[in-house]
Amino acid sequence: MNPEMFDRIYESIAKKESTYDGVFYTGVLTTKIVCRPSCRARTPKRENIKLYDSFEGAIRAGFRPCKRCKPEEPGPHGPDAALAAKVDALIGEHLSERVTLKSLAAALAISPYHLQRTYKRLVGHSPAVQLQRARIEAAQQMLADGKNSIAEIGSAVGFRSPSHFAVWFRSETGLTPSEYRESNASHREHPLDSKSSRANQGGNR
Ligand SMILES: [Zn+2]
Repeated sequence: MNPEMFDRIYESIAKKESTYDGVFYTGVLTTKIVCRPSCRARTPKRENIKLYDSFEGAIRAGFRPCKRCKPEEPGPHGPDAALAAKVDALIGEHLSERVTLKSLAAALAISPYHLQRTYKRLVGHSPAVQLQRARIEAAQQMLADGKNSIAEIGSAVGFRSPSHFAVWFRSETGLTPSEYRESNASHREHPLDSKSSRANQGGNR
């Protein structure tokens, strides 16, 4: 799992969100207890967490199920919600690669038709739209961070050619990557402000 993905899941554990319930299981190394990511118990330190993608995997590794969140029972949002979260996780892990409805469906071992229909019903838009949004969000964040070149950022979100990346970014946001970077650089003295405004733009997920 890449660090960005881990960060995202850890954030949702800290907020006790159910986004990743049924998708990942939180093994707490200090207590040897496995929880749902949404468990109401005190949030473990990140270095004490090992994530498992199946409950059985955590049990095999010697964890005992938490009595509070009962990770062995199906989640309140049902298996379809877990599917949508799994799609988001896959998208987040493969932003730099070619991702299609077909490749997502294959990774989840379901039909593209079922994936498209279920995801749209749960989330309100298609996996393709989600992929675009995730790429834009990742590019904006990296541009604002200022750590990588524009070419590197383009390639991190799936564009081999920086000029194609620039054209796409501008058509999606109305700004070129350099304009976006400049307009965000002026806010860098207030990292918390810019972070919270980005979080708001990210919607409710
Ligand atoms: Zn728990």
